[in-house]
Amino acid sequence: MNITHIEHIGIAVENMEEAIAYYENVLGLKCYAIEEVADQKVKTAFFMVGQTKVELLESTSPEGPIGKFIENRGPGLHHLAFAVSDVAQSLQKAEAKGMRLIDKAPRQGAEGLKIGFLHPKSTLGVLTELCGKK
Ligand code: ZN
Repeated sequence: MNITHIEHIGIAVENMEEAIAYYENVLGLKCYAIEEVADQKVKTAFFMVGQTKVELLESTSPEGPIGKFIENRGPGLHHLAFAVSDVAQSLQKAEAKGMRLIDKAPRQGAEGLKIGFLHPKSTLGVLTELCGKK
């Protein structure tokens, strides 16, 4: 696996407007994109911090993964995303090393990137996303 940097940190929020206000007014960051990923029943908002992004995630349905996460654990840190050069190959390598995968093959994420998740049971409790252009 060839990780180049932390691509983003995913944070589950209950109220997107309130969350954006905090990141903009208190932290002084600027939201540069809001995007809905219908597939994941989620609305995302992005902030750039150096070469790393903060990705806010608000559920569009209580049945979605973020809705369930908030119901079980409350809002807060949700996942860590590493940038890799080849998501498919990285998922295969992780599986070969005994990792449990949530995604056997890359799928389409926000910002036109390919993404794939490793299961937190295999990654010491941290939901881990791999993402990249291919
Ligand atoms: Zn993510």
